[in-house]
Amino acid sequence: MCYGENMEIPEKMKAAVLVDRNVLAIRDVETPKPGPADVLIQVASCAICSSDVSLLVHPWPGQPPYGEFIPGHEYSGMVVAKGETVDEFRVGERVSVEAHYGCGRCRNCRRGNYTSCLNYGKREKGHRANGFTTNGGFAQYVVNHVNTVYPIPDSVGFEEASLITNLGCVLYGFETVGGYVVGDRVAVIGPGPLGLISVEVAKALCAGKVYLIGTRASRLQMGAALGADRLVDVNQEDPIALIREETRGIGADLVIESSGSAQGLQMAIAMVRRMGKILLLGFPEDPVSADFASLAKDNKSIYTVRGEGWGNVGRAVSLLASGRVDLKPLITHSFPLAEIDEGFKTFRERIGGAVKVVVNPNEKIENA
Ligand SMILES: [Zn+2]
Ligand SMILES: [Zn+2]
Repeated sequence: MCYGENMEIPEKMKAAVLVDRNVLAIRDVETPKPGPADVLIQVASCAICSSDVSLLVHPWPGQPPYGEFIPGHEYSGMVVAKGETVDEFRVGERVSVEAHYGCGRCRNCRRGNYTSCLNYGKREKGHRANGFTTNGGFAQYVVNHVNTVYPIPDSVGFEEASLITNLGCVLYGFETVGGYVVGDRVAVIGPGPLGLISVEVAKALCAGKVYLIGTRASRLQMGAALGADRLVDVNQEDPIALIREETRGIGADLVIESSGSAQGLQMAIAMVRRMGKILLLGFPEDPVSADFASLAKDNKSIYTVRGEGWGNVGRAVSLLASGRVDLKPLITHSFPLAEIDEGFKTFRERIGGAVKVVVNPNEKIENA
């Protein structure tokens, strides 16, 4: 297979198009063409995210209409063509991406907060968020603005690289709460993909002790393998009492809520120390109540992050290349594009202990 400058790009490609509520159809659609500052990426792997599960059922703001939208925002692949101004990448380069480009003209984007663009979903104002408001990676090819593309080293496989956005999101969270975790006691609620990655990042940043709180033994065990110091199965132990006891009644320095459960936020408020920080990586589907009086009286703060901002996907590539964080254990299943429905079912129902499920739209480019 040749990936030289003269590589043939087919006119049509296979893509998973969202044609109706929760219905993906594999269609032959026109292969997109890169604009002046874009690259065309041949997608190697695109991971399924809980955001995908959500937006398939209830369209998110700015999402294109049924029949026109290709989802998928966590992907990796190879640059196969580029716009006329692009000298940042060469054809044949292995890359990963971040979903959000932003618009480049609103106040938030101008200050680097492009994942919270004020023109979100307004394509006519230049906003792009691949897999959310513009076409994404459940396709053989996808177009990305160069700002959203990061080269990956040969040591990082394509499937693992498709999870770099998850790592970027977690790093963005750590940066948002102020960073510098050395010696801190960190409690992570919810051993889903972002919770498990949070455990790894907290350890890489030399946290004093990392607690992982959950209900599923298999997920907790994976957390232990990834470095969690203390597992707390809420069916057997009270995590709030345990952390209070272990910290002489003080509480955790940082609590990362990634369960998205109705109880998660209140648990976080109860277990974080006075003036401690809570990072919300998960969020419940429905409104929840929590003790905001204690939050205010004890000067505790809640932080939120949207996506993988501030260029943290670039930092994620570096961290992954260093070997201090490993995303491979999270990838439990992979499917070809034709079996994307099976992939979603596996992810949604956690069949076979599924954690992250990846879809590979092109068969032959793994580690070319
Ligand atoms: Zn995602
Ligand atoms: Zn913007």
